[in-house]
Amino acid sequence: MNLTNYVVYIIGLFWLTLTDAKIGYFWHITDLHYDPFHNSLELHRGCRHRGSMEHNHRNERHRDHSCDSSWNLIQSAAALMAARHPDTLEFVLWTGDILSSSMEHLKEEYKLEAVRNVTDILSRTFSSQFVFPALGHNDPPPSRKLVDMWMQWLPTEALQTFETGGYYTIEQSHSKLRIVVLNSVLWAGGAARTDGPHRGRAQWEWLEQVLSKARRKSEMVYIVAHAGPGVEERHGAGSASAAGGGELTPQANARLIHLIRAFSDVIVGQFYGHRHTDTFRLVYSEGRPVSWAFLAPSVTPRGAGSISNPGLRLYKFDSNNGKVLDYTQYYLDVTTNRGEHHWAIEYNLTQYYGLREVSATSLDALADRIRNYHDRTIFNKYISALRVRHAPDFDCDTACVHVHYCAITRAEYQEFRACVRNPASALASRAPSNSAAILLYAILILISS
Ligand SMILES: [Zn+2]
Repeated sequence: MNLTNYVVYIIGLFWLTLTDAKIGYFWHITDLHYDPFHNSLELHRGCRHRGSMEHNHRNERHRDHSCDSSWNLIQSAAALMAARHPDTLEFVLWTGDILSSSMEHLKEEYKLEAVRNVTDILSRTFSSQFVFPALGHNDPPPSRKLVDMWMQWLPTEALQTFETGGYYTIEQSHSKLRIVVLNSVLWAGGAARTDGPHRGRAQWEWLEQVLSKARRKSEMVYIVAHAGPGVEERHGAGSASAAGGGELTPQANARLIHLIRAFSDVIVGQFYGHRHTDTFRLVYSEGRPVSWAFLAPSVTPRGAGSISNPGLRLYKFDSNNGKVLDYTQYYLDVTTNRGEHHWAIEYNLTQYYGLREVSATSLDALADRIRNYHDRTIFNKYISALRVRHAPDFDCDTACVHVHYCAITRAEYQEFRACVRNPASALASRAPSNSAAILLYAILILISS
């Protein structure tokens, strides 16, 4: 072998190790908000009935968005996932709010019965995969009964912490990926005032230990929870009084961001639900993007802040190291699909936004393109995805675009408010972007030559 051949051979070997990804898939489903009384004819229970009374004088087009998920809708979601079942589907992330908020005041046994129905359909759909559930604020608190229901999916060690606090970690036996499922309810406004403080503290200590141990063992970590850090994309979001309804308290939010920053070398992905919209959040360290979080849209068509269509998300990843490579977003247009459930592909992340890879850096660059006031192409795509193609018939002026940008890039509540108040300072506070650094470098080379 002459030298040239040898070099080509070495480069080839290097390339092989670089590209030797073991492709796997996982579903992320969230905010099913199953309403067992959806079709009930009882006046105050049936949502359709309630909906038609309430919406007589309102925009008829939005009627289907005033109800939580019927059993039919959940069945159709399960059928879609069964039909699009890749051979290398490894697991399912299920990030809470299983039940309709209209069930809030019902007895615990009714709630558990509804959770059992959804659990059963998921275990039939994913008969040879594990489903990893996270609790939302509309779900029953951790209990022996939930443990019994979910012990088919969780190992003993996970069940122990789940029963006491609703959080757990899963070690993937065949890879270096560790899944950390948090109970965000313990850090949210409501719970912190009742029995939360003690268990909330225990979860912080546990999380730090898990992350430190993962670092020692060179593991890669997914953080999974119902509610994640950051604010909703509207003016006035992130104020102390707005913390409630499942939102993290300002203190919990700041502490979680701090931990994510400190362990950004270990955390390779964050997956949340809760907002019923399709968006993402970035965490920075000294102006540099170091971690991303994807928020998947809900299965229920009922909006939280704004209205959206039902969505289901299939992630593609390298199961050797957990690196997320892409996702396919599925959706159901409930306005045009009255009563029928034709799920379709909405978009593929990397194609849709023209991303070369899924990383904090590439998503930071995407945030800059979303903010572009002169060319609205990417912003319009973002808004269409945010509402899962539910007719984005609203006007978003420059200030409104800026609020969206602040929500993506300022997870800390105070920083978000400062960003919204002062667009100029938001620009100034950024570290030099890549293109600025390259330009500077080019100038330096020119001067030195
Ligand atoms: Zn929800």
